[in-house]
Amino acid sequence: MKSGFVTLYGKPNVGKSTLINKLMGQKIVIVSDKPQTTWHRINCVYNDEDSQIVFTDTPGVHKPVSPVNRYMLRAITDSLIGMDLILWIFDLETGITRKDDLAFDKIKDVKTPVMAVFNKSDLVPEEKVKDRVARIKSKYKLKAGHVISAVNDTDFQELLSDIKSYIPQGQPFYSPEMLTDRSTKFIISEIIREKVFRKTYEEIPYTTAVYVEHLSEKADGKLHIRAEIWVERPSQKGMIIGKQAGLIKAIRKNAKRDLKYLFDRSVELEVYVKVKKEWRKKEQLLSEDLYFDNK
Ligand code: GDP
Ligand code: MG
Repeated sequence: MKSGFVTLYGKPNVGKSTLINKLMGQKIVIVSDKPQTTWHRINCVYNDEDSQIVFTDTPGVHKPVSPVNRYMLRAITDSLIGMDLILWIFDLETGITRKDDLAFDKIKDVKTPVMAVFNKSDLVPEEKVKDRVARIKSKYKLKAGHVISAVNDTDFQELLSDIKSYIPQGQPFYSPEMLTDRSTKFIISEIIREKVFRKTYEEIPYTTAVYVEHLSEKADGKLHIRAEIWVERPSQKGMIIGKQAGLIKAIRKNAKRDLKYLFDRSVELEVYVKVKKEWRKKEQLLSEDLYFDNK
């Protein structure tokens, strides 16, 4: 039996969370077309007949501008050491950008082995793929790597077996039924936050948080959830609610659909929008209600 830890690493929006969901065979972490969708370090536990691999999803490497960003960057740093492998994900469509240099700066002195994954091959013509892969490998002195499309590919056996060559023999760290080390409330808040991220623009996704205020299971097995969507200013409240409450209804409907699927049971979901002035600067709210590690 093999058992170990692998971090997915890289700049924002390269497809780290998409790849984790693909490797896990189901959607666990959230994905959107906007950078910095992932705010936390999330361990996802992959099991097959001969191994358990804990894949850590991380926020993309970026420059810190607010306390939230600082928490996010610490989540990245904490996930680089003591791992068996870092999977450094690149975006073949953008090619090398300054954000990849920033990512390189953070890991160049880390002792953990690094393996490159070149993602979004579906967006680039084949001749260009070779060229971009070669440039990335030579610039960051990377030896091996895999070219993939996290959205199109269905078979990741080659990648998985290469990953396993870095994983030591050992007993599993988690029970095989566990999909993630995060709580049910956390997963619920993330799913709702994903819908906000997908339906809003400009600063709204980044100034909105989701707090699950109540979670209970009814006698018939139905989940009862009451969640608050936090915004910073009263004007933003109207934007989340939308015309004739259209936006909040869509957020609720889409979140409910995912929650039903994930927990495989019916769900009663109430969602309220609340103004929490400057929640992004309030360390207590961040660590107690919004899962930012306050170590
Ligand atoms: P992360 O920030 O690195 O976790 O990136 P996400 O997983 O959230 O993905 C960012 C965006 O890229 C989403 O819109 C994904 O659907 C998209 N994406 C991810 N992988 C691929 C891929 O292989 N091909 C294409 N075309 N899009 C991808
Ligand atoms: Mg992500």
